[in-house]
Amino acid sequence: MGNNKRYSVPDILNQRSRGHIFIFTDLDDTLIQTQHKVPANARTELGATDRLGQPLSYFTQSQKLMLDMFANIGAQIIPVTGRNTEALNRVEYDFQGLRVVSHGAVILTRDNRICQDWLSEIAPLLQDWPDLLTRCNAEVNDIIKTQKLDARSRVIIDQDIPAYISIKGETADLAQIRQLNTLDSQFACHENGRNIALLAPYASKKKAVEFIKKQLELSVNDLVIGIGDSLSDLAFMSSCQFSMLPSNSQIARELIHA
Ligand SMILES: [Mg+2]
Repeated sequence: MGNNKRYSVPDILNQRSRGHIFIFTDLDDTLIQTQHKVPANARTELGATDRLGQPLSYFTQSQKLMLDMFANIGAQIIPVTGRNTEALNRVEYDFQGLRVVSHGAVILTRDNRICQDWLSEIAPLLQDWPDLLTRCNAEVNDIIKTQKLDARSRVIIDQDIPAYISIKGETADLAQIRQLNTLDSQFACHENGRNIALLAPYASKKKAVEFIKKQLELSVNDLVIGIGDSLSDLAFMSSCQFSMLPSNSQIARELIHA
């Protein structure tokens, strides 16, 4: 990259006493977005493709500059995303280290394998919650059918771990589903626009970030920045020293209306 020279990377990396830099970042609507959410006149480059390999999401130039800036100063950039492993692999960025996917239900290691230590940590919860996810999803699909709603619901299974229920549809239909569902109160909920995710307790971005911080022995002397756009991201962002958010985001809108 042409602007590498502007940063004295070795100076920072060779001085452990100055701490390390870690960026925990959400992806969709934080670093990439679909075409209709791209600001007018923004230069873009491909951010992610769909299942068929077609362009779906884009980095704006400023989003990419921010990522490059962090990479150039030697920061470790750790994605913390609701995307499952397969969907993360469709993002056009070469994340070099740990990756948090499926809202935290899965942590991937540097070599793209499931982190066994995290798996051991959540193993006790994997006894009962998958069954509850299945039952709740069945109930949601029942509601969609009987109420003739324009929505779809499925359990997202990542690396054989049933992680969360993904419900997509129009806002009014989603509201009706929430009203009629009897099991959803047992789950943590991520809700933003046309998406709802009902999360098993191990599908927690915050728990995953806390786990990684502990594993990497991050201390108060390291710089840890959390970046996200959704209200449900705030929990993991608060585990970092600094939080960043796009000005056009669910969190920002909530702050303005408060
Ligand atoms: Mg997001």
